Amino acid sequence: MSSNEAVSSNEAGSSNEAGSSNEPVVRYEVEGHVATLTMNRPEVANAQNSALIDELDACFDRADADDEVRVVILAGAGKHFSAGHDLKAIVGNEGADEWVAMRETPEGKFHHEQIMYVDRCRKIHDFRKPTIAAVQGKCVAAGLMLACMCDLIVASDDASFSNPVLRMTGAGVELLVEPWELGIRKAKEFLLAAEELDAAEAWRLGLVNKVVPRAELTARTMELAQRVALVPPVTAQVVKDSLNNVGELMGKGASWRYHFMAHQWAHNTATALSALEQRKQMGSMKEVFAARDRGDAAGASTDTPTDTPAAAPGQAPPGQD
Ligand code: ZN
Repeated sequence: MSSNEAVSSNEAGSSNEAGSSNEPVVRYEVEGHVATLTMNRPEVANAQNSALIDELDACFDRADADDEVRVVILAGAGKHFSAGHDLKAIVGNEGADEWVAMRETPEGKFHHEQIMYVDRCRKIHDFRKPTIAAVQGKCVAAGLMLACMCDLIVASDDASFSNPVLRMTGAGVELLVEPWELGIRKAKEFLLAAEELDAAEAWRLGLVNKVVPRAELTARTMELAQRVALVPPVTAQVVKDSLNNVGELMGKGASWRYHFMAHQWAHNTATALSALEQRKQMGSMKEVFAARDRGDAAGASTDTPTDTPAAAPGQAPPGQD
């Protein structure tokens, strides 16, 4: 129960390397009853590649197994929470792995997304201990899906939320969180018009619980986590489960299963496949996003999300270029 027990996941000997540095791809720290998992690919706006998804999963297992941990915070290092799935690894050759190789066929694509995207996200959604996402900067597509798996969301005042993949042929991301978070009518506008919600609007719509100044995000999220940690674990677990059950009874799981199949079908349409081919011919993700914003099908991706935060002038979009 010491409140200063900070543990780096590296100490556990995990093979959790982020590129050439020795930085773990997800940092794992425990303070008192709160574990903080920090996605640590700030140079690509925490774009989610297979290594990051695997390590996040391992960190959740670790937090689950530690009886001292009562609450988990999910955060992102750097300017942005997450740009979504790492498209660069999927469209380009960089960072290709066995999962990416599998995507050559509809069967493989289905398997990849079922295991790495849907099941991993559902596991966080159903995690037995309460979870809080701390979101700053851009929270895009699969980044939004990930944040929405948490029980609570604290956003900093510079946070923004978007899922602009439809004009790139993506049928949303794998789990359609939007109607549950925004209501059906707003979800339609958000997705069809590629609307970006700022933190204040996200709060008004009920997507996030609190908006705090950027400089206070970590402290205020920890404060909230410590309040939640006052609840005996068994009570927190049963109440969380019962609240999730309300979502189940309202059809959340069934709607997600339906959407995932529709999403897969859309991945394999002629429209999506030809857009992917054109996209592979493009020199950079910057070109891809420019095409997308012209409404040009060449900007289309059959893949999900990974859309990236808009680049600052003269700067490549994080993680994509
Ligand atoms: Zn997909």
